[in-house]
Amino acid sequence: MGKPVITVVGSINMDLVVAAAKRPEAGETILGEDFYTSPGGKGSNQAVAAARLGAEVHMIGRVGDDEFGSELLKFMEKENIFLNGVEPVPHSASGVAMITLADGDNSIIVYQGANKEATPDYIRKYESLIAKSDVVITQLEIPIESVEETARLCQKHQTKFILNPAPAADLSVDVLMKADFITPNQSERETLSKQVDFNQLLDKLIVTEGKDGVVYFENEAPRRISSHSVSTVDTTGAGDTFNGAFAYAIGMKKDVETACHFANAAAALSVQKLGAQAGMPTQDEVNEFLR
Ligand code: ATP
Repeated sequence: MGKPVITVVGSINMDLVVAAAKRPEAGETILGEDFYTSPGGKGSNQAVAAARLGAEVHMIGRVGDDEFGSELLKFMEKENIFLNGVEPVPHSASGVAMITLADGDNSIIVYQGANKEATPDYIRKYESLIAKSDVVITQLEIPIESVEETARLCQKHQTKFILNPAPAADLSVDVLMKADFITPNQSERETLSKQVDFNQLLDKLIVTEGKDGVVYFENEAPRRISSHSVSTVDTTGAGDTFNGAFAYAIGMKKDVETACHFANAAAALSVQKLGAQAGMPTQDEVNEFLR
């Protein structure tokens, strides 16, 4: 089959990353060891992951009318992502994520900025993209009403809908039931289990568990796929790589098990490089890794 058509409805941020020996306490100032900016946002990251693997990716989202905004558009264009659905918001700052890398893990504050303007009305403008897609994927860094609208449009057009419930937020049972797949990490899974009777969701759930791999359910029984043992440099974006690759595989009409295997391999490759998008592999790299 040809390229799957994937639309990502989600956030576009500039990541501002500082590496430090430790995290500062409240009121404390410490010196960092490294600083860089890199394009990010769960939406944009997942779009890049799917595009590198060879999907035709369309993005629906917003950037600000600042320098970060034009840089972010340039980055996504270079990744061959279709950007008709990304309109800059006048007089608005682009979304940013302030990331601290310390003790081999990251802590993150996201400022939504222009992403807040990815409103339900805005999403509806690009309904035709959702209608023609094999798969739509969204996350929770845009307004929740927009996630709900995306779910409704996917159902209307019978487009497969993957909901990555990250970062954790309150979700209605209705939006969860409209998803074909729900892809929380472990802490997001905890939040979900407080919101809804988990048994209702088992056939849709794909839980990523970091270095412990991924769990999906078959006839309500959990099935684990262990992660690949690799030398980990930076896990930022592992979840986004997993989600973009999972969307790609579902777009290629793979079954859940095959899609999880593929995404697990893509994500393992991604943790071996610094930065959310830098380590996202191409199709050839995944095939080589799995050979
Ligand atoms: P992040 O927020 O860091 O992007 P996440 O919390 O959304 O990640 P995780 O569950 O940590 O997502 O990781 C997603 C997937 O990435 C895992 O299911 C696994 O396939 C892969 N992965 C993560 N960490 C490792 C690791 N150390 N070694 C190999 N694979 C990993």
